[in-house]
Amino acid sequence: MPTFLVIGANMAGGTAAATLREEGFDGGVVLIGQEPHPPYERPPLSKEYLRGEEQEPRFIRPPEWYEKNQIETRFGQGAQRIDVAGRSVELLDGERIAFDSLLIATGCRNRKFPLPGLDLPGVHDLRYLPDSDAIKAAAVPGARAVLVGMGFIGAEVTASLRSRGVDVTVVEFAETPLQRVLGAELGRVLEGLHRDHGVTMFFRDGAERFEGDGRFEVLHTKEGRRIEGDFAVVGVGVEPVTDVVRGTDVAVDNGILVDPALETNVPGVFAAGDVARHDHPVFGRIRVEHFDNAMKMGQAAARNMLGRKEVFDDPHWFWSDQYDVNIQMAGFATEWDDVIVRGSLEERSFAAFLLKDGVLRSTFTMNWPRDVRRSMPLIKAQVRADPKMLADPEFDLRTLAPPKE
Ligand SMILES: Cc1cc2nc3c(=O)[nH]c(=O)nc-3n(C[C@H](O)[C@H](O)[C@H](O)COP(=O)(O)OP(=O)(O)OC[C@H]3O[C@@H](n4cnc5c(N)ncnc54)[C@H](O)[C@@H]3O)c2cc1C
Repeated sequence: MPTFLVIGANMAGGTAAATLREEGFDGGVVLIGQEPHPPYERPPLSKEYLRGEEQEPRFIRPPEWYEKNQIETRFGQGAQRIDVAGRSVELLDGERIAFDSLLIATGCRNRKFPLPGLDLPGVHDLRYLPDSDAIKAAAVPGARAVLVGMGFIGAEVTASLRSRGVDVTVVEFAETPLQRVLGAELGRVLEGLHRDHGVTMFFRDGAERFEGDGRFEVLHTKEGRRIEGDFAVVGVGVEPVTDVVRGTDVAVDNGILVDPALETNVPGVFAAGDVARHDHPVFGRIRVEHFDNAMKMGQAAARNMLGRKEVFDDPHWFWSDQYDVNIQMAGFATEWDDVIVRGSLEERSFAAFLLKDGVLRSTFTMNWPRDVRRSMPLIKAQVRADPKMLADPEFDLRTLAPPKE
């Protein structure tokens, strides 16, 4: 019986291991994960769990599921080296495990700029369960938080901290929150949302050094601001974790490169989730850092380890919750030349369609979930949509969808 090995036990790796069993694979499955917990969902760490509405991590399968389904686990144990030719993996404790097929799902880690004082107690970042616990412990009503970075994680943490009665001051390099993902026009809508909830924000400024007597007390910014606080949270992006393939033939370039069927250049070695930079039939080479993508890639990679050769062409979708606002986004656009809005930016109830050369590449919605789903087949089919139709809330996007094969 063959043995399939999975390195990285979170959304992509955990889902892949489960999918192997659900697809009827009865060979060996070994799931290796550096965190001590079984795979759990990260999104609540900046939302329900951080706000204190959920007390327990949301496990993707009940902790006992793995043993019941004959999945061998090594939680709290890292893989340190892959012997690609010899088809084995060496763990940090020296154990060697042979594999017939391997999935690398090592995800991302938070980027850490070498700023003075970053290691001071009271300066946090957020990726893992204990990070969320530490921020929650600091987030007592009336505390003052300094947030560095206003991407999705920074914006969600800000909203959750406000709901716990924490004062929040934000410093962000760009002109608006999420400018890189949404552009300034839509970013300003988010800025307004946070201002209405009493958040102080400084844009076009960045962290220079964190200072304090034994723990964080003040952030000094590049523009000369001095912002006092009881704790700080840094959210300045992530980088793919590719250490385990260093020195092997597996190709890496801002993530582990995989083909449309999620296989690396080394036959039998696959990658999925945040770490995988795949060759997408619609968007080209992309690396996506979202939950739904990690889950679906984990499922597809497992099926392809079983020999399916399925092309992964999901149009991508994700969500974010901030205050009472539901945000969703579909597609993938790093550049666009037109933004068409239906609904109202002022009322924060709208869908915005991002087009490049007339082709719909991405849809961003705020409290307008209907059209994000409806636009996904259009994004996948690279539909050229008439801006007047897109702008008209009465126009049903489903009528533009290409016929099903
Ligand atoms: C606070 C937070 C909120 C989020 N909210 C949203 C949201 O609202 N919507 C959304 O779409 N996405 C959200 N995301 C992103 C989403 O959680 C990620 O895209 C998803 O977790 C990616 O899953 P993954 O399995 O690819 O990687 P990861 O979750 O990074 O997991 C990789 C695992 O591999 C382990 N690992 C790494 N190296 C090794 C090694 N050598 N040996 C063994 N194990 C190793 C790591 O310890 C980790 O457990 C959020 C992320 C965070 C941090």
